[in-house]
Amino acid sequence: MQHLQEFQNTTRAWLEQNCPASMRTPMVPDEIVWGGRNATFKNPDSRLWLDRMAAQGWTCPTWPQEYGGGGLSTEQAIILGQELARINARPALTSFGISMLGPVLLEYATPAQKMEHIPKIVRGEIRWCQGYSEPGSGSDLASLATRAELIGDNYVINGSKVWTSYADQADWIFCLARTDFDVPKHAGISFILFDMASAGVSTKPIALISGSSPFCETFFDDVKVPKQNLVGRLNEGWSIAKRLLQHERTMISSFGLASGQSDRGGTTSVVSSLEGAAMHYRGDTVKLSDPVLRDQIAQFKIDSESFAYTSQRSVEESQQGQGPNATSSMLKNYGCELNKRRYELMLQSLGSQALGWEGAGFSAEELQITREWLRSKANSIEGGTAEVQLNVIAKRVLGLPDMLAVGKKQTGI
Ligand SMILES: Cc1cc2nc3c(=O)[nH]c(=O)nc-3n(C[C@H](O)[C@H](O)[C@H](O)COP(=O)(O)OP(=O)(O)OC[C@H]3O[C@@H](n4cnc5c(N)ncnc54)[C@H](O)[C@@H]3O)c2cc1C
Repeated sequence: MQHLQEFQNTTRAWLEQNCPASMRTPMVPDEIVWGGRNATFKNPDSRLWLDRMAAQGWTCPTWPQEYGGGGLSTEQAIILGQELARINARPALTSFGISMLGPVLLEYATPAQKMEHIPKIVRGEIRWCQGYSEPGSGSDLASLATRAELIGDNYVINGSKVWTSYADQADWIFCLARTDFDVPKHAGISFILFDMASAGVSTKPIALISGSSPFCETFFDDVKVPKQNLVGRLNEGWSIAKRLLQHERTMISSFGLASGQSDRGGTTSVVSSLEGAAMHYRGDTVKLSDPVLRDQIAQFKIDSESFAYTSQRSVEESQQGQGPNATSSMLKNYGCELNKRRYELMLQSLGSQALGWEGAGFSAEELQITREWLRSKANSIEGGTAEVQLNVIAKRVLGLPDMLAVGKKQTGI
C-alpha cells in the first residue's frame, strides 16, 4: 500500500511539473494528437506534452518497458489515470496503434516485430489504420476477398477495403487478407502489416454529407509486402482479427464513459453538463423546470455511473487475466447506447438552438453539438454493428445456440 501511495505522490509531482497549462483544458477537435510521420501540432504544447509523456512510457502505461512502455502495474495505471483526470489533462496521444494494434502485437508478434513497431506506437511516430471492412464484407468480415499471394520473399496484395478511417493520413495499415481460397472462410485469412507508402497502395476519401471525410476507400494493386510482415501464423489471422476487435470494442465502449462527466467545453461553458444546458436554455436559475427532462437526465446519470463502475471492473479483470473477452461486446453496446442517449438529451436541452447547421443564429458550440449528435449515430455501427454484438453476446457470453446454424441443419441448407 505504501509503495502505491509513494507512486501517487511522485506521479502527482511529475504531472504538476510537466503537464503544460494549456494541456489541462478540454480537448478541442483540431488539437487531438494522432501522431505519425506527418503529424502537425496546432498547439506547440501538444508536442511537448506528447514527448514528455512518451519519454515516461505513459502514452502506453502498462506496456513493457523494453518496448518503450511505462511498465506500470494495473494499480499504478489506475492511479496515473486518476491523477491525469484530477488535473483535467488531455490525452497526450490518440491512436489506433495504442487502442487496437499494440495489444495484439504484444500478444502475437515476434520479438523482432515488437521491437520494430511498439516503440514507434508509444512515441506516436507511426500512425496506423485498420484494413478490415470490404465492399460486401462488413458484418460478415470473414468473407473478405482481398488476396495475398506469397511470391518469392513477398506477399503480393490485391483487393480493396472500405470505410478505412484516416487511411489517407496513415503511415501503415494492419490488414486482413485471404491467403487460402480452398478452405472454410475463417481458416484462410492472414494478418499482415505494411507501409501505406508502398507502391500500389492508393486511397480515395469518402465525402460525407457533412463535408468531412473521416474515412476512405483503400485500393491495393500488386502491393509487395516483405513476408516477415505477417503477424502470427499463415492462415491463422482470424484469431488475431477477433482479438483486435475485442480491444477496439472496449475502446469504443469508453465513449459511454464521457456520459456522466462535464466533458464539453469546460466549466465555463453553458453546455458543460446536461442540467446546466437544459437550465440555461430555459432560463431556469434554481432547478430545471421541465420535470420530464429532469427525470430523464437523472435516470441517465444513474445509468452512466453504473456503467462507469461496471466498465472499470471489467477492464481491471481483463488486465489481471487474459485480456478482454466477449464481454467487450456488452460494454460496446451499452456504452454506445449511453453516448447516443447523451446526445439526444443534449439536443432536447438545447431546444431550437440544436437545429442549426450553419449561420449567425447559432454559436460555434451549438453547431458543434449538432455535428457530434449526428456522429454519435455511427457508434453502433463502427467496430461491428449492434446486431452483431448481440449475436456475439448470445453465442459467446450466454452460450445460446447459433440459430442460423440450427436453422441450416433443420432445413438442410
Ligand atoms: C465511423 C466508422 C468508422 C469505421 N472505420 C473503419 C475502419 O477504420 N476500418 C474498417 O475496416 N472498417 C471501418 N468501419 C466499417 C465498420 O466496421 C462496418 O461498417 C461494420 O462492420 C458494418 O458493416 P457494413 O457497413 O458492411 O454493414 P452490413 O454488414 O452490410 O450490415 C447492414 C445491416 O445488416 C445488419 N446485419 C448484418 N449481418 C447481420 C446478422 N448476422 N445478424 C443481424 N443483423 C445483421 C447489420 O447489423 C446492419 O444493420 C467503420 C464504420 C464506421 C461507421
